[in-house]
Amino acid sequence: MTKARLIENYIDGKWIASTSTEIQDVINPANQDVLAKVPLSTKNEINHAVEAASTALIDWRDTPATERVQYLFKLKTLFEENLDELARTITLECGKTLAESKGELQRAIENIEVACGIPSMLMGSNLENIARGIDEHMIRQPIGVVGIITPFNFPGMIPFWFLPYAIACGNSCIIKPSEKVPLTMVFAIRLLEKTGLPKGIVNLVNGGKETVDAMLDHPQIKAISFVGSSEVAKYIYSRGAANGKRVQAQGGAKNPVVIMPDADPEMTTQIIADSAFGCAGQRCLANSLVITVAEAKNTFSEAICEAATNRVLGSGFDKGVQVGPVINADSKERIQSFINNAHTENAKVIAGGHAVSVKDYEQGNFVAPTVIDNVNPEGNIATSEIFGPVLGLMHANTLEEAIAMVNKGRYGNMGCIFTNSGPAARKFRNQVDAGNIGINIGVAAPMAFFPFSGWNESFYGDLHAQGAHAIEFYTQTKVIAERWPKEWSRTF
Ligand code: NAD
Repeated sequence: MTKARLIENYIDGKWIASTSTEIQDVINPANQDVLAKVPLSTKNEINHAVEAASTALIDWRDTPATERVQYLFKLKTLFEENLDELARTITLECGKTLAESKGELQRAIENIEVACGIPSMLMGSNLENIARGIDEHMIRQPIGVVGIITPFNFPGMIPFWFLPYAIACGNSCIIKPSEKVPLTMVFAIRLLEKTGLPKGIVNLVNGGKETVDAMLDHPQIKAISFVGSSEVAKYIYSRGAANGKRVQAQGGAKNPVVIMPDADPEMTTQIIADSAFGCAGQRCLANSLVITVAEAKNTFSEAICEAATNRVLGSGFDKGVQVGPVINADSKERIQSFINNAHTENAKVIAGGHAVSVKDYEQGNFVAPTVIDNVNPEGNIATSEIFGPVLGLMHANTLEEAIAMVNKGRYGNMGCIFTNSGPAARKFRNQVDAGNIGINIGVAAPMAFFPFSGWNESFYGDLHAQGAHAIEFYTQTKVIAERWPKEWSRTF
């Protein structure tokens, strides 16, 4: 067997081996093969990256925005030309199907496209003669060196909710991808290198907690963009803010969905099955709890069990596969323990739940799509983020009761409703506490020109990812008042 290669960091335009003695395996979740080794980089390596980013910033912030975005136009083309290979890298280290990998890359490309339009979005405002002979205007300037910390579940998309906007706004950045899936970002940075982007503008430092802490504490890093679990998001927000940084920290989710009795049964079942079991349930916008209203219970419960049972499990590379493995053995064990303990909360597994073995991938982290009925609203299944292909069912008598159940949750990433009734949908979208609402939609992921984030424990901060919010996050405003007395201009 060939020795797994050690992934390098990319600092100041050079690929550099980390000096860290802490090295972790990068594992293929479909068969446990070691794909590479990833260093958990040290504080010194973050210091080096910040130094490079700070030096690069001096010219970059004065480079016209129209010139800055030319690198992004090139990156978009390179992403499109390399889409298949990029998707294969995601599937290899993350496990999802090739179609899902391509889907997330499409979202990355959308974000690059929106950032290409930044010159017009960066325009300030001005008012002449705020008093006689005095003009006042507001400009946007870059915030400085920016840190980006991302999770395992969308290695090709989530970094691009941030990176294109940060650099187009004139910042330099340091990105630390999830140590579970570092290969995709190595590939993406190689593409970025081909654009001729000046050295030091984007730096890649691989690592774990120590690396993140060094970013949170470094005084030259002015802003942190984070996506991951709520527990870590809260920590990132607190420590980053305590160090005077601007922080946006996106966390976990449950994404409850309400089904009204008038919802189209076939369409509803298909969309919810795709949302709950797609990406093996490892999506921050996966429906993981259903609340049926009145007789919707009867039509939906049986249909979703059939849909779960019919899902095809396997390697993300194989044709026809709908559900790949979950990220690692720990995660599989954790998910399975929620399922195995369901009966202690008086809930009942009505589909899936059993151990599965996939031919040729017997070592893979596969979890059968599972439906658990009669979930206790106060119990673990309703309140914890399971992050696997597991859907809990709860039942309400009225829409009002269902909305109250949704709003009891600690998260607030997304809420969905399936109905034919305009008034019911309107009430739901007005009253549900969540950052994203789906009406007859299972994964209400906003397009790149809308802000994306949740409420409650799904988000810590103020300005969200993507679009206009990204521009506000990565810039600071400066207001200038100016007077040029006539007698001074006469001298010229
Ligand atoms: P995670 O919180 O374990 O890790 C996220 C990042 O934080 C990684 O880069 C990791 O190295 C780092 N990290 C982990 N523990 C840390 C610690 N104690 N101190 C400092 N840094 C730490 O998340 P994950 O398992 O990689 O990703 C799954 C989670 O991300 C889920 O909770 C999911 O809902 C969430 N997520 C949220 C969104 C959203 O938009 N809200 C999108 C995708 C994923």
